[in-house]
Amino acid sequence: MRNICGMQRRRFGSTEVEVSVIGQGTWPLPDRDALRRGIELGMTHIDTAEMYGDGRSEEIVGEAIGPYSREALFIVSKFVPSNGTRVRLKNACERSLQRLHTDYLDCYLLHWRGEADLAEAMAALEALLDAGTIRSLGVSNLDPWDLREAAQGLRGARIACDQVLYNLDERTPEVHELPWCRDNGAAFVAYTPLGRPRDRAAETVLTEIAREHGVTNEAVALAFLVRDPHVFAIPKANALAHVEANAAAGDLVLSDDEFKRIDAAYRVRKRDGALPMN
Ligand code: NAP
Repeated sequence: MRNICGMQRRRFGSTEVEVSVIGQGTWPLPDRDALRRGIELGMTHIDTAEMYGDGRSEEIVGEAIGPYSREALFIVSKFVPSNGTRVRLKNACERSLQRLHTDYLDCYLLHWRGEADLAEAMAALEALLDAGTIRSLGVSNLDPWDLREAAQGLRGARIACDQVLYNLDERTPEVHELPWCRDNGAAFVAYTPLGRPRDRAAETVLTEIAREHGVTNEAVALAFLVRDPHVFAIPKANALAHVEANAAAGDLVLSDDEFKRIDAAYRVRKRDGALPMN
């Protein structure tokens, strides 16, 4: 069994499980050794999906996690909306488990709403929860209206998380999905947390703060995103230097003044239209 270092963890939504605040994304296809380096640095929260490379991402994760204690990891996968019925979801989940070489998922998410009947998809997830195949259930790319509808479709279980696009340039979830998560005891998981190339002037603020702490701008950006106790971030990195920089964000403590400077440089804009997905 290979060793895993500690990193800041927090309770994952309605579950009883403490999960690393910085996890690892796996699309585009991940690198097995980079994932292992990330796990050993404490990024034990791994996000994948059946859709990523038609299952190839899950296979690589399955290879990567082999040398570690399964209980030390928090493995999340996602299903496509067309699999959101009881029989189809049972089969989709079995295929994911086979590719991942594991017998349970820590959390299983509806990838996006699409054509899914939310009540039916939630009932199908609850059946897997009852069967013990998954330990918690969640959603991705749902706005507060969809979240409410999904929650109403559950008999007793609770939505453990909403996984949403959130980065310094796209902070609108702070006034839409994050409040829902806070009010309903769900985790908010930030995907594409590093976003697109940033505004040069604003970047100077990150650079100054990063220099003071001896970390990268990306680590500062991630630490800013996970400042709220409900938030987790899942950056994807194949380069080992990137993996190490991202892991550093897990234990980076920024001052109130630093938070204020970043907040002022990257304003929360008004959302025009639907929840962004790209
Ligand atoms: P991201 O993590 O914000 O950015 C990934 C890119 O940033 C890669 O090109 C990576 O390069 C680079 N990078 C990583 N760490 C870096 C660092 N410290 N310094 C500089 N560059 C760095 O975006 P993402 O991959 O779109 O999102 C992350 C994960 O979220 C995905 O992998 C996936 O698991 C999940 N996701 C979910 C949804 C959804 O609909 N639920 C949608 C999109 C993504 P290298 O790989 O070369 O290191």
